[in-house]
Amino acid sequence: MIDTHVHFDGLGDADAIDAAIKRAAEVGVDRMLAVGGDTARNAFMVNVAAKYSFIKAAVGYDRDCAEAENSLTDLELLIEGNENIVSIGEIGLDLHYHPESELVQRELFCEMLALARRRMLPIVVHSRNADEATLEDLKEHVAEWGGNTDRIGVLHCFTGNLDFMKKLLDLGLYISFSGIVTFKNADALRDTVHYVPDDRLLIETDTPYLAPIPHRGKTNEPSYVVEVAKTLAMLRATTIENIAEITTCNAERLFGL
Ligand SMILES: [Zn+2]
Repeated sequence: MIDTHVHFDGLGDADAIDAAIKRAAEVGVDRMLAVGGDTARNAFMVNVAAKYSFIKAAVGYDRDCAEAENSLTDLELLIEGNENIVSIGEIGLDLHYHPESELVQRELFCEMLALARRRMLPIVVHSRNADEATLEDLKEHVAEWGGNTDRIGVLHCFTGNLDFMKKLLDLGLYISFSGIVTFKNADALRDTVHYVPDDRLLIETDTPYLAPIPHRGKTNEPSYVVEVAKTLAMLRATTIENIAEITTCNAERLFGL
């Protein structure tokens, strides 16, 4: 299995990261995408990807950077010639925590989308309480995307409704489910799981956040993506092996692994 969303800096020091990677391998989670989002995190993920051949990196500036000075040149330099960087992420909008900064968030998001087009890299998108704005900006991105339409990107940690999901799928995006799908109060989310076509489904942990049941309250880690896969298998009336196979194949196609 491939955990497509890991913030390795949240696991602790190098030994803690190494131990978590070993626990993941023991349960069949043998590849991961290390996801950045600001200058420090981007550098951290690039270092992790340099150390482990089975880990690739996503770099970008996320919504929390919207009001800061962000150097596009630094980001371009980081990406230049680094084959471990396979994606721009995470990027996107959060109007739940920061509704007041919508304009600057969208400005940065659009800048990141333009970077993804220049580099022909798939995107990892965060969206919370921002369906309309996210769709509007993505629509423009997709219209100008000159690459393979199987490689546009993913809406990570999906928690939206069916209408939002359908529109994302129409734009060609993949849908990634996290441990939230195992939570007791997530019936509405679970009701959307069956709608994602086999060739657009992804799994992630969003480590170190959102540990799935039965690990809630602990620091999340890549090995726990198995719980996400189990829940998806149950909801889609299939086997965990099938979920592992299709989500691995999808992550390989999307990120060019
Ligand atoms: Zn994240």
